[in-house]
Amino acid sequence: MSAAVPGPIRAVISRAAWQQNLAALRAQAPGAKFLAVIKADAYGHGAVQAARCLDADAFGVARLGEALTLREAGVSKPIVLMEGVFSPLELQQALQSELDVVVHSSHQIDWLEQHDSSTSRRVVWLKLNTGMNRLGFPSELLAAAYARLQRLACVAEIRLMTHLATADETAHPLTALQLERFAVAASRLELDSATALSIGNSAGIFVGAATQGAWVRAGIALYGVSPSRELDALQLGLLPVMSLESEVIALRDVAAGESIGYGAQWQARRASRIAVIAGGYADGIPRHLPNDAPVLVNGIRAPLVGRVSMDMITVDVTDVPDVSIGTSVIVWGRGLAVEEVAEHAGTIGYELLCRVSARVPRVYCD
Ligand SMILES: *Cc1c(COP(=O)(O)O)cnc(C)c1O
Repeated sequence: MSAAVPGPIRAVISRAAWQQNLAALRAQAPGAKFLAVIKADAYGHGAVQAARCLDADAFGVARLGEALTLREAGVSKPIVLMEGVFSPLELQQALQSELDVVVHSSHQIDWLEQHDSSTSRRVVWLKLNTGMNRLGFPSELLAAAYARLQRLACVAEIRLMTHLATADETAHPLTALQLERFAVAASRLELDSATALSIGNSAGIFVGAATQGAWVRAGIALYGVSPSRELDALQLGLLPVMSLESEVIALRDVAAGESIGYGAQWQARRASRIAVIAGGYADGIPRHLPNDAPVLVNGIRAPLVGRVSMDMITVDVTDVPDVSIGTSVIVWGRGLAVEEVAEHAGTIGYELLCRVSARVPRVYCD
């Protein structure tokens, strides 16, 4: 596959946009340390390239394999396993590869105790559940967990973290409640002033929760996508990093009444010019994207018509001038935010980005 001449569909990744987004986020959380979340292959952008491009203080991933790939590629900065390890064997590998771990449950502390030695000393991110109710210690068990970790030779430093459930909705009362629970739990631990705290994801940074913690953990905003439906990415100073680009591979004029594609789902109400574009659900364009979802053809918005198929989409370009074979198409990215396309597909930008499939070449530009 790699020897093939590149086909029409590609994910063009802008390093300049990446760095600009990191700078915008750092400006939003002055003085905070920055953990760049590059799980799920950097939300589909390529984790190794992300780690090389982004001057973050640490990187966060969700799976051991993701972390090992980064280490094998020569990434030497701190890497955090954000769900911790899933077995004692994973813990051994994590320690060997000098990974830092989240600890969210007592079974993970059992494993640390069983493997304790001073030869590999790591940062442990102790996770408190403040209302997400997914991972993390309940506040009444936090002190005991903290004390156990303090006794371990392999623990070089303990940081206290939590994760917000509703920071993307500014008016949601749960955010304030979570912040208060975190503050109360932290004060009960009587932490020394050097103990680092971490709360904010991308949305948290923009609601100001981030500044309460010494470490921010941003993912989606790094990729230039707004973390909240209430906020516009460009107004936040964020630029889309990925443009999913393709080309027109066929053109067809159809008479009124003709249908297009599988299931004859869409019927032309007028004589229409239909562009066939390389890119389908096998590339990560959601099959349930409905008729009228926007696509940029020659920089002009045109409606998707007919079902997304495995390798192609069809677009009504009757009103777009100068369309020919090879005309450039943007499925999302510059000029057409992935947030907007995701909204049509009934999902969020996160999902569209991390589902861009492996057969789509990533092309990096400065
Ligand atoms: C994925 C993740 C993040 C990043 O969230 P974004 O909304 O993409 O900024 C932060 N913290 C934790 C624990 C995560 O799992």
